[in-house]
Amino acid sequence: MTDPMTDADDRPVLIVGASMAGLRTAENLRRAGYAGPITFLGAEPHAPYNRPPLSKELLQTEGQGHEDVAFPIRSALEENVEWVLGRAAASLDTERQVVVDETGAEHPYRALVIATGLRPKPLPIDDHGLTGIHVLRTLDDAVALRQALRPGANVVILGSGFIGCEIAATAAKAGAATVSVVSQSRIPLERAIGPQLGAEVRRRHEAHGVRFFCENGLFGLVGDPSVERVILTSGVMLECDVLVVAIGSDANTEWLEGSGLDASDGVLVNGGLQAVRADGTVLENVYAVGDVARYPNPLFDEVARRVEHWNLPTETGKRAGQVLAAHLRGDDCAPIIEAPFAPLPSFWSDQYDMHLLAFGMTYLADRSEVVAGTLEDECVVEFFRGDELVGVCGIGMRGAVQGYRSRFTPPVAAR
Ligand SMILES: Cc1cc2nc3c(=O)[nH]c(=O)nc-3n(C[C@H](O)[C@H](O)[C@H](O)COP(=O)(O)OP(=O)(O)OC[C@H]3O[C@@H](n4cnc5c(N)ncnc54)[C@H](O)[C@@H]3O)c2cc1C
Repeated sequence: MTDPMTDADDRPVLIVGASMAGLRTAENLRRAGYAGPITFLGAEPHAPYNRPPLSKELLQTEGQGHEDVAFPIRSALEENVEWVLGRAAASLDTERQVVVDETGAEHPYRALVIATGLRPKPLPIDDHGLTGIHVLRTLDDAVALRQALRPGANVVILGSGFIGCEIAATAAKAGAATVSVVSQSRIPLERAIGPQLGAEVRRRHEAHGVRFFCENGLFGLVGDPSVERVILTSGVMLECDVLVVAIGSDANTEWLEGSGLDASDGVLVNGGLQAVRADGTVLENVYAVGDVARYPNPLFDEVARRVEHWNLPTETGKRAGQVLAAHLRGDDCAPIIEAPFAPLPSFWSDQYDMHLLAFGMTYLADRSEVVAGTLEDECVVEFFRGDELVGVCGIGMRGAVQGYRSRFTPPVAAR
């Protein structure tokens, strides 16, 4: 008997982006019975690895490298898998079912998984070719930044989100002479965790000598050939040996231009993670997963959003793997797609000895309330949009924060 999962078509499932979300999708495809060929096409030279340590352990531990952060490759992916690494996809033709990479090589596919993640937004002013300017998204970025964060360095971080704050903590611990965080925001992390927790994070950083220049921006850079000083919009001038740009991310979707997909802010997908064209029709053999995917979450509302948290590559990969396996078998995918896709976003952050853990979409809230403990020590903070609980975040108190998971359920109509 022929196996419809392997014999009907010898073109592979092509996964563009060899990182966490692509890997999780491949694992779930195998788990759902697909034994046919899979090809990973990845822009980085490295096999999939875990990014959170890049702003934490790996950034502060000399000698750590890929082996310390690599994801294990499960035995199910040892057979019939091709890895094409160090090559970026350049364009997509959904009619011919072909991805063309930057060398001009064509990669035909039976089904395509878009897992190209994000990249840091660039410096908002002309860098005049100066060296000493860093971003942090990849392992190579982290190794370069670690080398620059020498004791005695003057470090300026543009941006006070999670990555900016984690780098500030690491730089302070590494013995930087000065660590300055420059931010357009009033309060660090305000959008993510509200004004109370944000102010407490600032207080803890200041206790470690970090200085904040809030409601501020970069006006100019001075140096030759490396940056030596930065001038802020407020007129303040800061000594600077290392400038880190951490002002958010953009989706890696340029290669999808002209493909017909709705990739206006990440790739719009339906509840089965199948890509939606700009005209609203769905491509049943094209999927998007992880940070690059944009989808509504019925736990909160019908607005399609990109969510940049570590648990979502796993959740989206699981769903996409199940739907794609059913599609490849020729099964009706509708029952899976119609079941609500309602993953609970979760994120954490480690700065000094402070561990932040959150569930939900705290950034949708219009108010927050400390409901247990104290901000200066350990606490639990609830986040509300009107009367609706949309998130919870704790400093420490992990058990109490974990206990909130069951409080987020989709509305009955969506279940
Ligand atoms: C420094 C750092 C610290 C983080 N810390 C935390 C944390 O503490 N807690 C938390 O919840 N989350 C954290 N995150 C977020 C989490 O790591 C991401 O949500 C997760 O990595 C997303 O996985 P992904 O596979 O979707 O995308 P990515 O991991 O970004 O992978 C996308 C891959 O696609 C490749 N690619 C891009 N364009 C192309 C192309 N055209 N062709 C081929 N390949 C391409 C990229 O090179 C990359 O390898 C952190 C992220 C970073 C960068």
